[in-house]
Amino acid sequence: MSQSNIFFDRKHIWHPYSSMVKPLPCYIIKSAKGVYLKLKHGSSIIDGMSSWWSTIHGYNHPILNNALKNQIKKMSHIMFGGITHPSAISLCRKLISLTPKKLDCVFLSDSGSVAIEVAIKMLIQYWRSLGQKRKLFLTIRDGYHGDTFAAMSISDPKNSIHRIYHNFLPKNLFAKSPISAFNKTWNSNDLISFKYLIEKNSSKIAGVILEPIVQGVGGMNFYHPNYLKKIKILCDYYHIPIVFDEIATGFGRTGKLFAFEHANVIPDILCLGKAITGGTITLAATLTSRKIANIISESKIGCFMHGPTYMANPLACAVANANIKMIQTNKWKIQVSNIEKQLCDSLLPLISHPRVIDARVLGAIGVIECSKLINIAMIQKFFVKKGVWIRPFKKLIYIVPPYIINSNQLKMLTDAISVALNNSAFFI
Ligand SMILES: *Cc1c(COP(=O)(O)O)cnc(C)c1O
Repeated sequence: MSQSNIFFDRKHIWHPYSSMVKPLPCYIIKSAKGVYLKLKHGSSIIDGMSSWWSTIHGYNHPILNNALKNQIKKMSHIMFGGITHPSAISLCRKLISLTPKKLDCVFLSDSGSVAIEVAIKMLIQYWRSLGQKRKLFLTIRDGYHGDTFAAMSISDPKNSIHRIYHNFLPKNLFAKSPISAFNKTWNSNDLISFKYLIEKNSSKIAGVILEPIVQGVGGMNFYHPNYLKKIKILCDYYHIPIVFDEIATGFGRTGKLFAFEHANVIPDILCLGKAITGGTITLAATLTSRKIANIISESKIGCFMHGPTYMANPLACAVANANIKMIQTNKWKIQVSNIEKQLCDSLLPLISHPRVIDARVLGAIGVIECSKLINIAMIQKFFVKKGVWIRPFKKLIYIVPPYIINSNQLKMLTDAISVALNNSAFFI
């Protein structure tokens, strides 16, 4: 039965970034609890990925499940046009109280990519309202902002393979990504490329968009807070709004509630997603300053032109509320800081390994950058045999475990990585 299921899956179902002809092997997960994913034959593996940065409090969490059950008794969904509901209101209250005062208006949407599209549309409308047809966005290389078209157009051209969609993607500006690492010395040369582009195009740029401090799957780089500070100063000087994409980093992942707190700078627009529902249902939010919201709203068009069918889905809002309530107990601070300490102790020494170019840790993020491309199918099989779920890409083995992971479970993850590095068959 399950054999034929896996066969059906291979033959008929697309997986993320996959081929229908030569798909990578897939594992059937029957259920999940805490940090464990349960495989079909009953063995369990420890999740090192938090289902892509989302499941911060672990799977099947009773508080999150209860929030869903309570909401489902009332209603699963209602349209958000012309009607509203308590779960959305209470979620937006929480988002506004958690974020800097300046961010005062919330737009809820279905996924991170859409939250980015919304931010981009807002800025295009903002400039329209001011009588300017600006449509150019400035970002930095090695970024990742999602897979929809506008989001792709500001993601690193190599990684999101812009050439496939040539002529269809809007052309944007890419500054060189900063070299100065998070806790290394600051080299002001990092700014040259960004400064040049913003000076040269200042009258055409609609907005600057970037991931603050941690560039996620674009390369897992942790860059120096000074870079963000200086960029904000340049944006202010040219009156160009800045958008922070905290879809991966938001809600404690980097050791601060939001990554921009490492640099003490506040954006004009903030995109949140992934961990917002604790990994339960898709939901994202775009928070905007009152100034931007008003300029859009006071124009001739008079409203912001976006409205997904499932906008502010009550189930998603209810579970996000319960998730954020747990975040507000601040337990994540000690959890993330313990994970950080242990990751530093276990991963940083791997820098001396001949197959390792760099090892870096920030908050509950651990990254091993290898000197060669990784054979994903083979290393994955090894990891599953070792009882862990880690999904590397390109030359990067990284883990972003659930905050609730204990030190023995975390050790299983880091030990598996150390051992894997010794096997030449896993590297191409
Ligand atoms: C995952 C991610 C997105 C896209 O979110 P989806 O929910 O997958 O559409 C955007 N930006 C960053 C930084 C992300 O990590």
